Amino acid sequence: MKLRRRLGLAVLFVLFAGGASFVTWVPRVVDSHYNGVVESATPSVSLHARELHRSLLVADMHCDALLWDRDLLDGVSRGHVDVPRLVAGNVAIETFSAVTKAPSGPAFDPNGLDRVTPLIVAGRWPMRTWTSLAARALYQARQLHDLAARSGGRLTVIESASDLERYLSRRRTEREITAGVLAIEGLHALEGRFENVDAFADAGFRMMGLAHFFDNEVGGSTHSAANVGLTDLGRRVVKRMEERRAIVDVAHASPRTIDDVLAIATRPVVASHTGVRATCDTERNLSDDQLRRIAATGGLVGIGFFEGAVGGLDPSAIARAVRHAVDVAGIDHVAIGSDFDGSVRMAFDAAHVDRVTDALVTAGFDDAAIAKIMGGNYVALLERVLPQR
Ligand SMILES: [Zn+2]
Repeated sequence: MKLRRRLGLAVLFVLFAGGASFVTWVPRVVDSHYNGVVESATPSVSLHARELHRSLLVADMHCDALLWDRDLLDGVSRGHVDVPRLVAGNVAIETFSAVTKAPSGPAFDPNGLDRVTPLIVAGRWPMRTWTSLAARALYQARQLHDLAARSGGRLTVIESASDLERYLSRRRTEREITAGVLAIEGLHALEGRFENVDAFADAGFRMMGLAHFFDNEVGGSTHSAANVGLTDLGRRVVKRMEERRAIVDVAHASPRTIDDVLAIATRPVVASHTGVRATCDTERNLSDDQLRRIAATGGLVGIGFFEGAVGGLDPSAIARAVRHAVDVAGIDHVAIGSDFDGSVRMAFDAAHVDRVTDALVTAGFDDAAIAKIMGGNYVALLERVLPQR
């Protein structure tokens, strides 16, 4: 009897330990699988580009690092972003976007199996996040704030123009620090509730993408065939976002939704991580007309580093898209929006963003233009649009 109880306990222990390691192991494998780094044939960066890169204020408009089961304060080999790699890559500001739902399958049917749910269950997020998309977004905001609090000053969350000013003055002498701006990937996270715009703004979200892979209560996704525009709720949401000084992001939005936003926007509109149709003709990328109209709001187009945005993995593909965007939208309206950790393969991670600077040098951009593209334009936008304090 005593032996049987011991045996039972042992079995229970094995099951528990095995389960726990399964739970920590699976998200890591999924992370490594979806956020791979593909070694490219030409990893070298010229001395000029390296030195120029060290002198830049680099600011990236989009990454999804908060979704994955990683301590972002530690350097780990998985995925693309963590604090040590941001510091190593001289990235002064990273935008951390909260992904809350991503249906599987080619058609991104919103009722299809959600790929985020197993990740957060396995990642042991609080139970309320299992069933609530808004709770998933708020949890990720909390996570970034907690990371900053535990970072010993290495990571700062920027929520206001005065936060930004303080951080930038610190960074003039301290180079081993980085900062985050909070964003949301798709306003399905509102769960159809207007008042959640305020809840998100209160939690520190300063940029909100209207749609992700599927149409939602606010507006249409470019990945859906329906080309749905902004809904009545969507119009109220855009207006409230402007009042709360949250940046309206049309990355992933349908052409009609982009038209509808641009017709009512009174503040700068951005497409945080995208490409241009002229160099990569996919449904998520912007036409020349859209580039011009986003620029006309005083907004920005962040060029992604992944194949779906720029048509290839080599940094020269990024430079080609940047060249076209600059030619059409103007040098003050183009930025970088990597999409690091966005379930995409990359040729390099956050520690090697100097590869992009190198590609821009090779493409013939001068130092002043590169400074604007690599972060100057985004920092200038944040200075203009963030709440004062
Ligand atoms: Zn995205």
